[in-house]
Amino acid sequence: MITASGPVVDFARPSISEAEIQEVVAVLRSGWLTTGARVAQFERAFADYVGAPHAMAVNSCTAALHLSLLAAGVGAGDEVVTTPLTFCATANVVVHVGATPVFADIDPETMNLTPESAERVMTSRTKAILPVHFAGRPVDVAGVQALARRRGVVVIEDAAHAVEARAQGRHVGGGTADLSCFSFYATKNLTTGEGGMVTTARADWAQRIRVASLHGLSHDAWTRYAADGRPHYDVLEPGFKYNMPDIQAALGIHQLASLEQRLERRTAIWRRYDEGLADLPIGRPAPVRPGDRHARHLYTVLVDQERCGRTRDDLQRALQAKGIVTSIHFAAVHLHSYYATRYGYVRGLCPNAEAIADRTLSLPLSAAMRDDEVERVIEAIHGSLL
Ligand SMILES: *Cc1c(COP(=O)(O)O)cnc(C)c1O
Repeated sequence: MITASGPVVDFARPSISEAEIQEVVAVLRSGWLTTGARVAQFERAFADYVGAPHAMAVNSCTAALHLSLLAAGVGAGDEVVTTPLTFCATANVVVHVGATPVFADIDPETMNLTPESAERVMTSRTKAILPVHFAGRPVDVAGVQALARRRGVVVIEDAAHAVEARAQGRHVGGGTADLSCFSFYATKNLTTGEGGMVTTARADWAQRIRVASLHGLSHDAWTRYAADGRPHYDVLEPGFKYNMPDIQAALGIHQLASLEQRLERRTAIWRRYDEGLADLPIGRPAPVRPGDRHARHLYTVLVDQERCGRTRDDLQRALQAKGIVTSIHFAAVHLHSYYATRYGYVRGLCPNAEAIADRTLSLPLSAAMRDDEVERVIEAIHGSLL
């Protein structure tokens, strides 16, 4: 998109290399487009990267979360504790399995739920805790998992923002939480266009997720058509159509190989934003806790009208007029019509999350951003606030 003032700084332009393009072309020429050898290769590489015994590729993080809840036995009458500062999918899947999402407020600095805030809203019906590593900043997963063990519930982490994150030295998805769900949506740190992954250390859950992700079939098409394959399948349960095709895995294999490089670039942009915005009356992301590694997915600033003389929405409009695309992560989930109406959730339930939801603005951040684009964003924010 081009505006009168020049080319737009995109919000999260994907970085796709020539190697990835060639790999997708190779899949197209191979005669096998759906789930096959490349998905298996991507799953192995991903499991190695996060340090998980099992990785199951699916077609979205939403599917990953849905299957994880099913594998953990979450269903009708159960409650799942999650954060309101997330994408609606995190809560929607809880509704899909017949359970009730219960919202725990966040820590205003980390913007993540804490073991304490989660415990405050747990009841005898709580079956799982579903924390989100907001913006790529790791949750205290070990603390949440310890709470879960003590209360006999499961931890399913939404790691959609956090492929590269480590909490106290341990990779997110590497087995601290019971089940970990990743997103490879177009704007995420690792993209396959659309896609997702579940990792777990539990072989029984891994098997259940694999089967449920493809109609509940006892074995998939790749194994049925293999030279030594078994042509007949059995339906073990009415599963879902959640499998990842090889075309997407082809992207994933290369995106994974260059993941750390892109994180480095986003970290450099992050530091430049930190410096360039330091003199402004806006809130910037908190420093990372020692021992943790932030995945630098979203650089979010807080615009408080009292301090800035402008609202977040004013700033977003001013930047838009200068050709700079920003985004809002997130409107508090419990205040969306469905959740407010269905469960009677009202403003005041999670004051910290609500205050952030009202003030937060995500700046353009992508490894594909040029230095001059970063400077343009910094200048435009100065011009819009001072
Ligand atoms: C993107 C996102 C999802 C959903 O991911 P999909 O792959 O699009 O299903 C879930 N949770 C959070 C926090 C996200 O940002």
